[in-house]
Amino acid sequence: MSYQALYRVWRPQTFSDVIGQNAVTQTLKNALITQQTSHAYLFCGPRGTGKTSVAKILAKALNCLHLQDGEPDNTCEICQAITNGSMTDVIEIDAASNNGVDEIRDIRDKAKYAPTMARVKVYIIDEVHMLSTGAFNALLKTLEEPPAHVVFILATTEPQKIPATIISRTQRFDFRRITTEDIVGRLETVLNDKQITYDDHALAVIARAAEGGMRDALSILDQVLSFGQNHVTVENALDVTGGVATAQLGEYLQAVHDRDVAKALTTVESLLAAGKDAGRLIEDLISYLRDLMVYQQAPTLLADTETELIDSHFKPLSQAFDADRLAHMIAVLNETSGQLRLTNHPTIYLEVATVRLAEGTPAAAAPQAQPAAPTAEVEALQQQIQQLQQTVSTLQQTDVAAKPVAKPVKRHQSGGYKPNIAKIYPILGKATRKDLEALKDVWPDLLNMLSISKRAMMKISEPVAASPEGVIVSFDYDILVERAEQDEALMAELKDGLQRLTQKQYDIVLVQSAAWPNLRKEYLQTNGAPTKAKQPAKPTTPPVVKTITDMFGDENNITITDD
Ligand SMILES: [Zn+2]
Repeated sequence: MSYQALYRVWRPQTFSDVIGQNAVTQTLKNALITQQTSHAYLFCGPRGTGKTSVAKILAKALNCLHLQDGEPDNTCEICQAITNGSMTDVIEIDAASNNGVDEIRDIRDKAKYAPTMARVKVYIIDEVHMLSTGAFNALLKTLEEPPAHVVFILATTEPQKIPATIISRTQRFDFRRITTEDIVGRLETVLNDKQITYDDHALAVIARAAEGGMRDALSILDQVLSFGQNHVTVENALDVTGGVATAQLGEYLQAVHDRDVAKALTTVESLLAAGKDAGRLIEDLISYLRDLMVYQQAPTLLADTETELIDSHFKPLSQAFDADRLAHMIAVLNETSGQLRLTNHPTIYLEVATVRLAEGTPAAAAPQAQPAAPTAEVEALQQQIQQLQQTVSTLQQTDVAAKPVAKPVKRHQSGGYKPNIAKIYPILGKATRKDLEALKDVWPDLLNMLSISKRAMMKISEPVAASPEGVIVSFDYDILVERAEQDEALMAELKDGLQRLTQKQYDIVLVQSAAWPNLRKEYLQTNGAPTKAKQPAKPTTPPVVKTITDMFGDENNITITDD
């Protein structure tokens, strides 16, 4: 028999074989037992986490002649035909290569016919987000009136690219990245079965490189085994996995050590752009720091550590950071890891963590060996941290509440940010809805033109009013307003970008979004809406309301109250 790839040989054949997706498999088993299965499923999740394997098990379970506790028996003729691919009623389609309307219409036409051998026809459409718009429409028609004997299983790594109309017609399951421990456990099972010995550390290297995908982990193991030895070594594992990412972690920590925040953020950005998950990045940094710690205490213990072997920064870093500093960095990252679970703004948290890491241990706890007086640079960093920590606590409150809560605005908050009325009022005097909409249109493009650290700060900004010469931009957090306004380079970049995008010069004024409704109200009460002499309002609409709508659009839900 010719060689079969490990991930094929070890592909799970029952729900209980599937590693790390208990929520999904248990729900499916229950549905099968109670005969409450759906006509369409959507399996979402990163590559290699078991979506197509579970789809095939489900196809078997729906048709197995001896279903037991929701599990297929894998021995009846139907199960066997599905396993060896000869079952014509289970149709697998790769949307990446068959993404047109014709293919989906073809499915639609054929789905009408009853299955030839099985009880239900099962269509498994992999990478379904690759379908063309026309094909999605054709698929939607089928999903709207599914024939009784057909089940669709749609699988995707990118659910955000699937039309909501399709998603709402499916039962959705989210597959998780598989933990490093679970992957290592599976690799051990495979190697024990093959009677191949291994270094424990080698399996960790493979599992880490696979980033939560079992198929990738088994493919890497396959490559390692192709070296032909009967022992899996760390060196072999490293040869196959490369270790590029680890070198970048070293680069990041070196930049942190050098207090080069911009460079550290650039490294973070490039890792994220390469598809690295923010939470995963933090985890990897923590394990890198742990390795540094172990190496400091007992270099011989980790003489072979993968980190030292592949990353030229590792040894210098182990000398550059003392144990206290490492412990502090791990604590900061642990805290950040907890925050990331609650937030929709991972970049900001990574930025905060980076600045905190660069700052080092709190001054009070610093040993005597530290420089006597903090440099201006350190003071600036400390100030930045205080501001960022305030931002974080605000973010935590709003993230936990799931949506931003409008906070009551005190007219003159002590120490809070004071809006610049002298600049705001002239813009409001000439504000038009058309200008505002034009600016809202180009805003995402403008943010994309900014450098990364500035973009992180501007991500939660929004233009709220605009005249032909000026724009008022709101921020959710007053700490960010202050930071942005003091950042001359940022303001210059914004103006410059706007000019390139609109061919116009705009004055930019920043406000805190919680203060904005009151500011607008105060302006309207003292100045009234802009007069529009040549445009008499209809008698039924009070003129002031009409012009306010002209300025801000209907969606601002403007109510005028006298108080
Ligand atoms: Zn069976």
